Amino acid sequence: MKLYNLKYRNEKVSFLQAVKMGLGKRQGLFFPINLPLIKENRLKEMLEMDFLTRSVKILSMFIGDEIKLTELEKYVRNAFSFPGPMIIPVTNNISCCELFHGPTLAFKDFGARFMAQILSHLNKKNNITTILTATSGDTGAAVAHAFYKAKNVRVIILYPHGKISKLQEALFCTLGKNITTIAIQGSFDECQELVKKAFHDNQLKKATGLNSANSINISRLLAQICYYFEAYALINRNNQKKLVISIPCGNFGNLTAGLIAKSMGLPIKSFIASTNINDTVPRFLKTGKWEPNNCVSTISNAMDISRPNNWPRVEELFFRNKWKLNDLGFGSVSDDVTKNTLCELKQLGYISEPHAAVAYRLLKDQIQPDEYGLFLGTAHSAKFKNIVDDILQENIKLPIELEKPSKFPLLSYYMKPDFNKLKEFLLFKS
Ligand SMILES: *Cc1c(COP(=O)(O)O)cnc(C)c1O
Repeated sequence: MKLYNLKYRNEKVSFLQAVKMGLGKRQGLFFPINLPLIKENRLKEMLEMDFLTRSVKILSMFIGDEIKLTELEKYVRNAFSFPGPMIIPVTNNISCCELFHGPTLAFKDFGARFMAQILSHLNKKNNITTILTATSGDTGAAVAHAFYKAKNVRVIILYPHGKISKLQEALFCTLGKNITTIAIQGSFDECQELVKKAFHDNQLKKATGLNSANSINISRLLAQICYYFEAYALINRNNQKKLVISIPCGNFGNLTAGLIAKSMGLPIKSFIASTNINDTVPRFLKTGKWEPNNCVSTISNAMDISRPNNWPRVEELFFRNKWKLNDLGFGSVSDDVTKNTLCELKQLGYISEPHAAVAYRLLKDQIQPDEYGLFLGTAHSAKFKNIVDDILQENIKLPIELEKPSKFPLLSYYMKPDFNKLKEFLLFKS
């Protein structure tokens, strides 16, 4: 597969190069020059396959002969070694598509674990790779677990001290071995700034074999296409024809993957781009003006992003397929409405969490009588236990994935947001 840089289309790379580089020149995103198309009868066959077999087929359409099929099969099996999507009915025409049954209880496990497999494929020559990434919560855990004990890979995760939940922190700061976590005495923005500086430091890049694992990496995106096909295959045939999917959006990677699935031929009727009050995209879709505000903290914190990285890919998909941006559903939801919606969902017999609740609200408000709706469940409610317990007067039981680490000591280092300190640490300490 050839990809080009959306900002600088003369820059063309292979799939493996794109995974290694992350971003192209001028921070441009890579995107496949041609997207594979699945014919109708072939689609029928594929929908009858099991999740893993079908996922290998889908990914091989992109990766081609860059990775041998037998190897790719092994990587997909290693990456998706946990329960795939599950469809849980909530009303007569709305279900939650739960994507959080992986080791870190968030949908990010699909992308992070596949990326880990591809990087270890690239890294057969025993060079040390350093994965440096900043997290506001869920990415850190997914990346840490995906690379835990991987050969020749060390992972350094920066996070804002005191600004992520205790359970989120326990999930990736208690692992040790090749996973190093640094609590930065500053904000998430300052963590991200340190990572950017590191990537601009050529000496550091060479000496440590620096790579990033953030969500703009094409391997994470491609892995996510697979669960849209599975969700479609799992729902009843009558509902397939009028399927609307509402997605809780932050960096818009999840929506991008859904749109790629549709452009390959998966007949999803429409999507709803759901956000919290960090609503750059809903305002853009309404007014045509791109005007990011300062980021505001909400209870759906993984969506607290006002400059969504993946938006150029969404526009590219609309442009290429001659779809109209007008057909993309959208909306934003305040914290108060999110809280009420969590209560409404509880009355329907479904305990959810703030991100999925945002997606449910907009779906419920916008769905037409003849449509069938899925809202994506991106994280397990226990990850947001404090807030969910408080709103719903519940006492959510911690699944084993969270209970175990919550008893282990934190192994994090503490650091001021000082690039020279970080550089010294990366070169000499870990
Ligand atoms: C990362 C995340 C999102 C946002 O997904 P994007 O692909 O960045 O739009 C939504 N919900 C949860 C729980 C997340 O961790």
